[in-house]
Amino acid sequence: MSPCASSPNAFVILCCARRCPSSFNLRLQLLGAGAREVQSLLLLITLAAMNDREAGYPIGGSLPLAQELAQRYLALGGEITYRARVVKVLVENDQAVGVRLENGRELRGDLVISAADGRSTIFDLLEGRYLNDTIRAYYRDLVPSKSILQVSLGVARDFSTEPPALSFPLPQPIYLGNVRHERLVAKHYCFDPTMAPPGKSVLTVWCEADYDYWQSMRVHRAHYRAAKELVAQQVIAALERRYPGLATQVEVVDVATPVTYERYTDNWRGAFAGWALTTRKMSMMMGRAMSKTLPGLSGFYMIGQWVEPTSSFRRLWSRCHQGHLPGHGPSLPRSGGLNAAVDASLADGCRMGRP
Ligand SMILES: Cc1cc2nc3c(=O)[nH]c(=O)nc-3n(C[C@H](O)[C@H](O)[C@H](O)COP(=O)(O)OP(=O)(O)OC[C@H]3O[C@@H](n4cnc5c(N)ncnc54)[C@H](O)[C@@H]3O)c2cc1C
Repeated sequence: MSPCASSPNAFVILCCARRCPSSFNLRLQLLGAGAREVQSLLLLITLAAMNDREAGYPIGGSLPLAQELAQRYLALGGEITYRARVVKVLVENDQAVGVRLENGRELRGDLVISAADGRSTIFDLLEGRYLNDTIRAYYRDLVPSKSILQVSLGVARDFSTEPPALSFPLPQPIYLGNVRHERLVAKHYCFDPTMAPPGKSVLTVWCEADYDYWQSMRVHRAHYRAAKELVAQQVIAALERRYPGLATQVEVVDVATPVTYERYTDNWRGAFAGWALTTRKMSMMMGRAMSKTLPGLSGFYMIGQWVEPTSSFRRLWSRCHQGHLPGHGPSLPRSGGLNAAVDASLADGCRMGRP
């Protein structure tokens, strides 16, 4: 029996995976940590995206994609200041005029565009001064995407003949952190030759995690490290039962917790993908987009996952694939700047693992 035969959704997805491992990978992540109440819808979205050839995986992962965008932006005359945390959006007469950095430096501009966490942008950087009932309701009623735990392993073993993703039951439930798991989903990235040297593989295990637990562990560095080590040992032991000999082949271990995601991205409670897709959110948003401006504040915009729910990457991929690129067919109306940079990067620099 297939390890997932008891779950119709997982069964269908695994069937798809055999034909289309890269897009399966992308979508399963959303299914695995998304809201359970709309799983069937997510499945349909997955299948529709695959049918439309919109789902994909950037060879090399997301870093080369970001680097291409940065290079193009610099080539167009842009400037990037890294390691510069914004602590305040500067406002004069209800007009955003710049930002103040943590080190006290102030940068001014005609427009301020925040791609950071929505909650901290609105309530911290702007001190909650520009709100209406709709925006208040987003941050009161919508649920952020789940907190996740990811164990990544570099192993001296070739997994390329194994299914790219496998959901398997555990003989005994295990607690990773304080969350009980009866099965694990393991993925390998052998379809991407940049991920590991020949004969070796990267494996990841993703699962739901409790932000508050990991936040409390982080208070004591030693406890936090020990908790992460324990999680790694448990996951390796579970994989060892599935793939005998694996425990001795592990060369690299990395454990990312919800507070790791929070530390690196500042996203609220380490949310991995902005808002969770729930029936409530869908009914709130049915037929209208989320506002990318704030009431009463001019010269200010928000972009990213907190105002553009569901993967915006999918939209880029869609544009690339459908030929809406320079020299690749009809162009979408563009204002230059970021759009042009995005298009050129996708056209010139990024190899995509196509369905
Ligand atoms: C482990 C993991 C796997 C994922 N896999 C997929 C996938 O396969 N497919 C998919 O479509 N999506 C995936 N996602 C979701 C996807 O990564 C996010 O939806 C996407 O990165 C959101 O982009 P963003 O630009 O809106 O925000 P972010 O990527 O969070 O970028 C926000 C940036 O703002 C910076 N920032 C925040 N606050 C400040 C401040 N005060 N001052 C200065 N800078 C600040 C942060 O450092 C960060 O660089 C995954 C997420 C995770 C965590």
